[in-house]
Amino acid sequence: MIAIGDKPHDLPFQEITVPERYLGLNFTKTGLNSKYNTLIQEMKNNLIKWKSQAITMKAKMTILKTYVLSKLTYHQYMDNLNEEQIEEINNMTRWFLFSSVKNTYTEERKYKTMMKIDRAYADWKEGGIKLWDIELRHIAFKIWYMNRLLHNNYNNNNNTLQEWYMEQLSRKKAHTSTLNDMCRHWGVFRVKFYQNHPKINELPDCIRNDNDEPLKLKEIYELMIKDRHPTPRRTEWQKLWAVRYNTAIPKVFININSISHQKGRNTLFRFFSRSLPGINHERDTRCKICGHLFRDPYSHLFTLCQDILDIEKTIISTVNKLSFIKIHRWSMDTLDISKYNRTERIFPNLIGIIAHQLWKIICHKLFNTDESNQSQNSNKRS
Ligand SMILES: [Zn+2]
Repeated sequence: MIAIGDKPHDLPFQEITVPERYLGLNFTKTGLNSKYNTLIQEMKNNLIKWKSQAITMKAKMTILKTYVLSKLTYHQYMDNLNEEQIEEINNMTRWFLFSSVKNTYTEERKYKTMMKIDRAYADWKEGGIKLWDIELRHIAFKIWYMNRLLHNNYNNNNNTLQEWYMEQLSRKKAHTSTLNDMCRHWGVFRVKFYQNHPKINELPDCIRNDNDEPLKLKEIYELMIKDRHPTPRRTEWQKLWAVRYNTAIPKVFININSISHQKGRNTLFRFFSRSLPGINHERDTRCKICGHLFRDPYSHLFTLCQDILDIEKTIISTVNKLSFIKIHRWSMDTLDISKYNRTERIFPNLIGIIAHQLWKIICHKLFNTDESNQSQNSNKRS
């Protein structure tokens, strides 16, 4: 048997010295034998395997959360990730999300995001990709577990380990660092978001959501991330766009979110969130396709470039043939689908598909490739 921390001196069991597996966690007599480094290696192998298959940002995020980061979840209430491990996970994530398909992962290399990180944490409907802040999520997990503990205790439903925790708590002195950690984070969370809820030393029932259920991990995390980043920073261009066209940028993302054509939705999302690879850093420069000077690569390449103007008539007639909403010219204003009702299905899908086709043409002309995923070297934040 393994005893950790403050142990009774009259245990009727013999202590062992090699790691013992209990509920999937490894213990020795000095405590938890962390499995994180092994897990991180597994996560890396998984990401490498998935890299070639995930094309759109949405698909990448689903894979990342469902098959990769979820491996951590079980270990997060007992074991702490250190800074180095968090950075390693973040680096792998950035490589997976933002570098080209052909880019192989190199541990020593620092990969960049193409979005300001607070924007990346935001919801899709706000122009983010709902990326997880691993550190914050780690804390949310501890709060969630503490809340479960209070809930089970209140309902006399604790298992042996939980009973042991509650006994320590009822003595008003938390003994193990795991428990101390959970109490501290739960306390901070209570003060910040549920001030009227009784303090932990009163051993109250758990904090509940609007449906009167114990708070879910997702709900705890979302409160915390919104508190840390209340309004995601806009790109310079998003601010400009909002003023010039009197357009609320988020409305664009709400409508993009309802496009059913996956690649079209992906390209339009990356267009408006300014995260298309390979062109992001081009400013006030000469177009490599038509030779004209431009200030902004997005508006130039997609609407003003000579090569696009050459096919403008085809674009317009295609849209007008298929959609009830008619257009007279192809412009940034046409691309802005925020002004349409969400019940309008065909038009936003058409715009998405056209944007995607244009992106393929642009990639072919600029990078001589059909892949719309360009080298990491040319990626920059905006
Ligand atoms: Zn051009």
